[in-house]
Amino acid sequence: LAFSVGLTGGIGSGKTTVADMFGALGASLVDTDAIAHALTAPHGSAMPAILAEFGDGFATPEGALDRAKMRELVFTDPGARARLEGILHPRIREATAAAAAIATGPYVIFVVPLLIESGTWRERVTRILAVDCPEETQVARVMARNNLSETQVRAIMAAQVTRAQRLAGADDVVLNDDGLAALTPQVERLHAFYMAEAARLAA
Ligand code: ATP
Repeated sequence: LAFSVGLTGGIGSGKTTVADMFGALGASLVDTDAIAHALTAPHGSAMPAILAEFGDGFATPEGALDRAKMRELVFTDPGARARLEGILHPRIREATAAAAAIATGPYVIFVVPLLIESGTWRERVTRILAVDCPEETQVARVMARNNLSETQVRAIMAAQVTRAQRLAGADDVVLNDDGLAALTPQVERLHAFYMAEAARLAA
């Protein structure tokens, strides 16, 4: 893949909103969360390896990963977390690359919530795009959308890099601190730039 973009942002920053706007302009989207989720759905391709490693007790009756039980285990056992990630990460890499390989758009946008945190994504994409907004805005959006308390939202945010760290790791930024209308010119400008870069690198 000559040119690709990794889109990231904190919880509630507007990643999905912004990614969908790029998609409407013609970019191909690869949702890494959705791909990761599918690996551990019923008959997901990571399930045999996970059950061989952790035992059949980690499957739901439908054959999906028992997420609550696994979350509890990895929360208290860093070794178990590492073993789970050892199973999932190569498969996520492979599945996201396969999705990108069959994409038909002029360029691919990988949507990766924890891109800055993960380390390996940086080498896989040409540009890193951060969706940015003030922390207060993140808190307000996620409280409204997920019916969570401010404390619960701030606890999730505490497990992510800070706004400043994310901005420092980004090549491009979409500022999402206003209405949806303010996103359009920013997305259009970046899409034009990405189209030109994709064409230049393909030549
Ligand atoms: P998550 O990390 O939780 O998946 P996200 O970064 O993908 O979130 P979105 O789902 O796009 O963020 O946006 C979070 C919420 O805020 C949604 O309910 C969305 O409709 C709303 N939202 C996002 N941007 C704006 C905006 N500019 N104006 C009004 N509402 C917005």
